[in-house]
Amino acid sequence: MVVIYNTLTGKKERMKPPKPGRQKKPLRLFVCGPTVYDYSHLGHARTYLAFDTIVNYLRHREFLVFYLQNITDIDDKIIERAVEERKNPKELAVFFEKTYYQDMKSLGIKSVNKYERASDHIQEIQSQISRLFKKGYAYQTKNGVYFSVKKFKNYGILSRQNLDELRHGWRIEPDLEKKDPLDFALWKFIKPNAKELFWPSPWGDGRPGWHIEDTAIAEAIFGKLQYELHGGAIDLKFPHHESEIAQAEAISGKKPYVKIWLHTGVLLVEEEKMSKSLRNFITIRDFLKRHPVAVMRVAFLRHHYRSPINYNQGFVIQAANALNSILEFLSKLNLIKKNGAVGSMTREKIETAKKEFYAKMDEDFNTPEALAALFKLIGGFQSQIQSLNKKEAILIKNTVVKQLRILGVKPPSSSMPPNIRSLIAARERIRAKREFSRADHLRKKIETLGYMVEDTPMGPVAWKKMVPDYNQ
Ligand SMILES: [Zn+2]
Repeated sequence: MVVIYNTLTGKKERMKPPKPGRQKKPLRLFVCGPTVYDYSHLGHARTYLAFDTIVNYLRHREFLVFYLQNITDIDDKIIERAVEERKNPKELAVFFEKTYYQDMKSLGIKSVNKYERASDHIQEIQSQISRLFKKGYAYQTKNGVYFSVKKFKNYGILSRQNLDELRHGWRIEPDLEKKDPLDFALWKFIKPNAKELFWPSPWGDGRPGWHIEDTAIAEAIFGKLQYELHGGAIDLKFPHHESEIAQAEAISGKKPYVKIWLHTGVLLVEEEKMSKSLRNFITIRDFLKRHPVAVMRVAFLRHHYRSPINYNQGFVIQAANALNSILEFLSKLNLIKKNGAVGSMTREKIETAKKEFYAKMDEDFNTPEALAALFKLIGGFQSQIQSLNKKEAILIKNTVVKQLRILGVKPPSSSMPPNIRSLIAARERIRAKREFSRADHLRKKIETLGYMVEDTPMGPVAWKKMVPDYNQ
């Protein structure tokens, strides 16, 4: 049974994995994609890696999942940035959409079935607004079309907000014709003489509000305004996701709009959210210039997807150390040459570790504990590695690599470049002559080239070291 924490109900939902080939319709998952006005940073990486892990695991457990992500290519932030840089907003959005796909590719994210741009769904957006007018939920002012929050009784159901408190704390309202400070824009009219993107509409030239873009894309691609899973970063819960629910349920009259809501925790830098506006962000591409992608994956996997994470030196160093010890263990297994069959004790230990790994992943994708189970397996064999035979070593290695693969971690290649191999061989010859200080000198040289060497009774073992220096 796979258990998923549902933000909407505050409860854990149980989902029975289907028998292979028996699930008729895929689970539909919508995850809020990026607003394409800048390079994506580690805060985005956290969310998209989390959903990549979740979807990959669900698929591994035989669930069919159709994963849809929207691209917000119409937004105030895009227009502001375009004005700042004297660029055309459409061109700016196209450029950063491209960089987003590049970043997702370098993170190894392949789980998304479809990306959909808001600008390709203007017709569906307008159709939803028309239906909201007909049902009495939409009204027009001189600035645009708004959704009347007071008309929708369940507003606040997802975020469990005290709406009156929110109304009192509202900042200065730019549109005095709004009936309620919480009413949100469905359609924004273009300002006179402004260089903005706009589309004609029955209400006037303008562009869509943010929330309606997502419900329109969901309806267009899923064919319905009701589906199984919706995900996004926790800070999108209010007002974005709350407003999506209001729009969709007001149009369809069906509840709930989405059965299970999943939210990823925030990424903090010195107690503040990593964000564009605070200028405390590290872009995905800058991070990957300094560290292998496996380090980033492990760093995030060491935290539960719903927990907040503090980004600091330890975040990277601990992940790199964890990867180093996996690589060291795998390289040592490669040295084992002894003949023999797989012993029953070895088999039992592997089976126990596998069960634990799956139990942890089944329990709301608890990746830190699944990783801990993997390390328990490694630790259990490390101390008696010399007593293993070759068949056992292969079985253990395959188990470790498979579990890492389920988590989306591809361990860096264990093959050595020729210069490192010949340095290791030279060091062995010197050691055989018992010239230990010269051997030590060579070890340092190998380390400065980014490789680790360790002498074991089975011979020297070497592996590529992850993140030699955080501040490099
Ligand atoms: Zn969204």
